[in-house]
Amino acid sequence: MKLHEYQARDICAKYGIPVTGGGVAITPAEVRAIATHIGAPVVVKAQVFVGGRGKAGGVKLAQTPAEAELVGSQILGMDIKGLTVEKVLVAEAITYVNEIYLGVIMDRATKQIIVMASAEGGVEIEEVAKTNPDAIKKVAAHPTLGLLDYQARELAFAIGLTDGKQARQFASIASALYKIYMETDASLAEINPLVVKADGALQALDSKIVVDDSALFRHPDLEAMRDSSDEPLAEQQAREAGITFIKLDGDIGCMVNGAGLAMATMDVVNLYGGSPANFLDVGGGAGKDKVKAALQIILSDKNVKAVLFNIFGGITRVDEVAKGIIAALAEVDTDVPMVARLVGTNEVEGRRLLENSVLIPASTLGEGAQKAVAAAKAYAASKA
Ligand code: GDP
Ligand code: MN
Repeated sequence: MKLHEYQARDICAKYGIPVTGGGVAITPAEVRAIATHIGAPVVVKAQVFVGGRGKAGGVKLAQTPAEAELVGSQILGMDIKGLTVEKVLVAEAITYVNEIYLGVIMDRATKQIIVMASAEGGVEIEEVAKTNPDAIKKVAAHPTLGLLDYQARELAFAIGLTDGKQARQFASIASALYKIYMETDASLAEINPLVVKADGALQALDSKIVVDDSALFRHPDLEAMRDSSDEPLAEQQAREAGITFIKLDGDIGCMVNGAGLAMATMDVVNLYGGSPANFLDVGGGAGKDKVKAALQIILSDKNVKAVLFNIFGGITRVDEVAKGIIAALAEVDTDVPMVARLVGTNEVEGRRLLENSVLIPASTLGEGAQKAVAAAKAYAASKA
């Protein structure tokens, strides 16, 4: 789950990282009021979940409250990479001499938490990572002791912050960001830019925190910050129904029980030349209501040209799943072909229930995947 910049900023402030104050506005008049209150040049920033807002015109400076209102009216309602800006952060504009990048991430390859920094921060950091990766310095936090002071100072020196006072401030910010990463169960915590001001002091102008969804159950305070406005509707519905669902770009909807089996199903669909429209795990012991919700979610994707059910009944009972499919089909108006491979507990009963349905039966996963791929092709051709 992504947090908005202003939410991440408030967390940074709580951990002692110097941030810029300011408020959130949803109308140009509010932008003006906040700018008047701040009484200085301000920066007006779109609060949307996309990287590169600055480059897309979503971050603008204003010298006066009147100009802030004008800039606010330009940014509010603006479309940035498909998302409409509904909120802006209005903050005091800071003058700086350099922009630093600072980030904490999980490096899956080395299975370590990496703290990275670069003296070439700012909106071009992705370009820097591509063309000049040596400009990004990294340290791996100790697996049990965390980011050690000497590591944070080494990182400071590596990016050219050799002044003692500055290196100490950088080290304390890096340690705080590492602490935020750990304590919020983040998958990413980043400050970009962390600016160096004329007097040498450091200040965070933009921060980003992505919280691991699987850890949200122990962070009700963070969960309460969720903004579902740009979460795809299907993913929102799946979350509420307790279904693990990830939308993909293909055209074969997959309904599977168990994450491993769901992955295998996608592989086999690919093997036979198909392309999965989603990853979906209805979970063990999924009953009628969950199956129905899952089918509705799959069919809400207009790309779907065939659905493949791959259910292995262990705890899950195949007849329960069959009832779910029947209940869903009664309510969902669709002509999308569906292939069912249902085996395991109560499979005879389950198959009997589906005998008179429109489902195309398959007895193995390979057969099911091939039939789904063929059905999707035929369906697409019939619509062309
Ligand atoms: P992003 O593009 O979504 O990462 O948005 P940022 O908040 O990082 O802003 C992008 C760029 O706008 C920064 O790299 C700065 O160059 C500039 N910027 C942001 N805030 C300020 C500010 O307070 N003062 C000045 N002078 N520039 C700012
Ligand atoms: Mn930024």
